[in-house]
Formats: sequence, structure tokens, C-alpha cells
Amino acid sequence: MVRPMTTAKIRLYVDHPLGSGQSVPLNRDQAHYLFGVMRLGVGAQVLLFNGHDGEWQAEVVQAGKRGGVLRADAQTRILQMPPDLWLLFAPIKKARTDFIVEKATEMGAARICAVQTAHTNADRIRQDRLQAHAIEAAEQCGGTYVPPVDDLQRLDRLLDGWNASRHILFCDEGLAGQAPALISDLTSTSVPWAILIGPEGGFSEAERARLHALPHAHAISLGPRILRADTAAVAALTLWQSALGDWG
Ligand code: SAH
Repeated sequence: MVRPMTTAKIRLYVDHPLGSGQSVPLNRDQAHYLFGVMRLGVGAQVLLFNGHDGEWQAEVVQAGKRGGVLRADAQTRILQMPPDLWLLFAPIKKARTDFIVEKATEMGAARICAVQTAHTNADRIRQDRLQAHAIEAAEQCGGTYVPPVDDLQRLDRLLDGWNASRHILFCDEGLAGQAPALISDLTSTSVPWAILIGPEGGFSEAERARLHALPHAHAISLGPRILRADTAAVAALTLWQSALGDWG
């Protein structure tokens, strides 16, 4: 849960249906945050979203140490879905992985998939922690949608079962320094898409060969310098959003 800026109302994600007059029970953490940390009391107004029903203005009707109840009154925003863009990334060090999930949520990814590649050091992720980061990022950035964060899966298996109608933007560090036409290539295609970012160790030769051979994968360069995976994720999301996404 994120501290609001001075003028902004508190925005809270709740795992509960939202509608006019709907009572929303709070769990211990939420009650601690609203009534302990933020010092709200009965009658205070907050904004709620649940990822499905848009954003709702709600009033505190019960405030306790271990729980409480809010009442949703009026919808303030409708659900705004991001474009159908997945981010596939190989988990790296903890803080950088957290950063990728946070930034992907802010940048408008519809789904976040951790993939295990040949050179990925992790063999598991804390899916629940990463999902909590996505929720916090959505609370902070005014999002009404929370991208699901999938548990770690092997890239080769994911590609085995891949639906070829989803294009893959394959960020290939082997192309660094080359300048393939990209924005114009991308704008001639339609959604759905997935961005694929490799680990710090890069892709293996076998992975690169396989990806280059896939007709639905488009290999691109992200410029002349080798970016860290977290930087590469933000750069690729920016590129895609400005070419094909919901930026305007
Ligand atoms: N160790 C590798 C770099 C890996 S960078 C090497 O030295 O070659 C981590 C990931 O970020 C890469 O797998 C790729 O997906 C992406 N990336 C970083 N810089 C890139 C660039 N200039 N072009 C395309 N992808 C890049």
C-alpha cells in the first residue's frame, strides 16, 4: 500500500466485488494501513479498485485495529484494460526483478510471465511477493487493472505451446549496434504481442537460433549499448507502447 501524495486520495486494491452500496470488509493489513498508518476514521473517503469493476469512491463505516468495513458509493472511473501485451522476462536479482514487475505494471503490461532460460540463475520466484508488487504499483499509478504475475516457467516449454497469433518482440542483445527497422515493422502488425527479455547472461545460441526461426517472433535491437535486463524491459515496453499501445 502506497502513501498518497498530499492532494491525492488513498487508493486501495481490494479482492472483493465493488458496486453501489457494496460493503467491503478489510483484512488486518488493510485496517492497519488505513487506520493505524494513515489515521483514517469512520466517515473518511478512499478510492477502491479490484482489477475488474473500475474505481470506486468508498466511505469508512467501521474502523478497528484488526479489521473494518468500507462502503462503496459511486464509481469514479471505469475499468481501463491495458493493451494485450505480455512481458516475458528471465528473473534476475531480487531488487531488479521487483523493479521489472513494478515498471511493467506502470507501463501497461496485461500479463507478466517469469521465464527460465538457459542462462537464468533462479529456479523459483516468490510469485506472491511479485504479485503484491504489481498491486502496489497499480495503487500508486492510478491503474484500475492489475496484471497477473505468472509463476516461473521454462521458456522452451512456453514456446512449445505458443499460440502463433501472438507476436513476440524478441529483444536480442546479439543485434545491439545494428539498426533494424522496427517501429515501422511493428505498426504493420496487430495485437496480441509479448515482449521477451533475457537474463543478465543473455540468450544461449540455441535459444537465439530457435527464436530467429519462429515466424511470429520479431528480433529487435535496443540500440548500440548492452542494457541491463531491467532497463531493457522498460525500453522495450516504451517502444512497443509508443508504436502499438495505448499512448495515444
Ligand atoms: N550478457 C549479455 C547481455 C544480456 S542483457 C551480453 O553481454 O551480451 C539482458 C537482456 O536485455 C538481453 O538478453 C536482451 O533481451 C536485452 N538487451 C539488452 N541490451 C540489448 C540491446 N542493445 N538490444 C536488444 N536487447 C537488449
